[in-house]
Amino acid sequence: MGMNPQTSLATHRRSFLKGVTAGALGVAGSHWLSSPLMAAAKPQYRGPNVILIRFGGGTRPAEAVNPDPNKNFAPYFYNVLAKRGTLFKNMMIDSFTPTVGVDTSHGQGTMYLLTGKYEKLKGVSHDPDFKKKHPAVDLQLFDDRFESKVPNFFEYFRKSFDVPSHQSLIINSEDRNNEEFYTYSLHAGWGIDYKCEALSLYRYKTWLLRQKIAEGKWKDKELEKKKQELAKLEKIDFRREEAQGQIPELKRFWERWRAYYGDTGFVNPRGDRLLTELSIRAMKEIRPKLMMINFQDCDYVHWGIASQYTRAVAIMDEGLKQIVAACDADEEYRDNTIFVVVPDCGRDNNSLCDVPFQHHFNTKAAHEIFCLIAGPKRFVAQGKLIKSAVDQIQVASTVGQLMGFKSEHAENTVLAPAFA
Ligand SMILES: [Zn+2]
Repeated sequence: MGMNPQTSLATHRRSFLKGVTAGALGVAGSHWLSSPLMAAAKPQYRGPNVILIRFGGGTRPAEAVNPDPNKNFAPYFYNVLAKRGTLFKNMMIDSFTPTVGVDTSHGQGTMYLLTGKYEKLKGVSHDPDFKKKHPAVDLQLFDDRFESKVPNFFEYFRKSFDVPSHQSLIINSEDRNNEEFYTYSLHAGWGIDYKCEALSLYRYKTWLLRQKIAEGKWKDKELEKKKQELAKLEKIDFRREEAQGQIPELKRFWERWRAYYGDTGFVNPRGDRLLTELSIRAMKEIRPKLMMINFQDCDYVHWGIASQYTRAVAIMDEGLKQIVAACDADEEYRDNTIFVVVPDCGRDNNSLCDVPFQHHFNTKAAHEIFCLIAGPKRFVAQGKLIKSAVDQIQVASTVGQLMGFKSEHAENTVLAPAFA
């Protein structure tokens, strides 16, 4: 019986490790797992790309899957893209174990999508080990920042296939720095070696400040001030592992962004339009195979003005249209990309509340969302509308099935009606 390639690589690795002193191995630590030698043991990824669009923060079916054109603010999503896939109009948050009680909010919902599991999530500052691990960090800042205990779909993906971190990508908004923490989980055996990368205006500002310091733009006292500013900015991502800034692929991305938009941060699009722009540029320049886009402007309705919400749904719908068009115009993405469109949470439907459209009171409407899986007909069932109830934590294992990786800690019942 011949030796299979994996066995011979493992043997090779063992004999190679024998030659390394214990001290050197200790320094290298977990990075052995991501060394080129080990990566070669994993297969190349040849399946379809998946782009998950978080249709958030907090969107009700009433404004997106409503057949009444006067009440539907996502006409592209509902009338055009839905024809290219399967629409689950009755997705719920936590329909399986409603007694456990989960929070219907943005960070939590995003985590449930990523991991396929409901966890009672507490801000990282509640972790008794946190202070030990990050003594320099101001705990107050981290109350709404979550770290998952189970792996997310990016980690499953990168553990199964030889995919560089920048080709599994989260696009984050400008003012939710807590979302910088979704790149990897705390689960033993997964975690940082399989993390994804994130693009956001926060990352750009950090890169730019570091870059300008290196360019010698400031001197003496001003330079000291800028260095402190950078340290403060970088501390927001307390898990940041690159001491010298971001990885080369992202540095090059920001160099081109700077050349186009300049230094001010005011010329580029803002809000969810910025996320659309980042996503389309990322597709052209970084070529992600798995990407999650965290739209969020609907949430400005917390201030109580309904038109801000419906307008944000419409802007998101326009962004979705542009992203799909960019994909259709690209030879490698066209006919080889699946879109998953799903909100992080719903919104209250009681218009008699003092401030309508909230989502923190655990009402049924805050649990009610929807999900569209759209893509080429060899992967996805076309033009189907599914009325039976499905659950938000089924999304992660469905992404896994579409891309061919196992998600062993996620809810394992997939959204089967969507498969071709
Ligand atoms: Zn909110």
